[in-house]
Amino acid sequence: MIYTVAVDYSKCTGCSLCTIICPTGTLKLDTSNKKAYTTSNECDNAWGCITACNQNALEIVEAN
Ligand code: SF4
Repeated sequence: MIYTVAVDYSKCTGCSLCTIICPTGTLKLDTSNKKAYTTSNECDNAWGCITACNQNALEIVEAN
């Protein structure tokens, strides 16, 4: 199964913790609007970002 990460932009504060912990580079920070975004479907379902995000802004989902 292929996974990606859905970001709830209404919750993300742009702290960048998820982008630092992500081992595959799936999550990056858009510095213009200070929101995390997904760059690829290479999520390995490690859940590091889910644990790191204290805003509960992330969800690992099945990629299309
Ligand atoms: S850890 Fe959460 S709040 Fe911080 S940048 Fe990532 S999604 Fe946004």
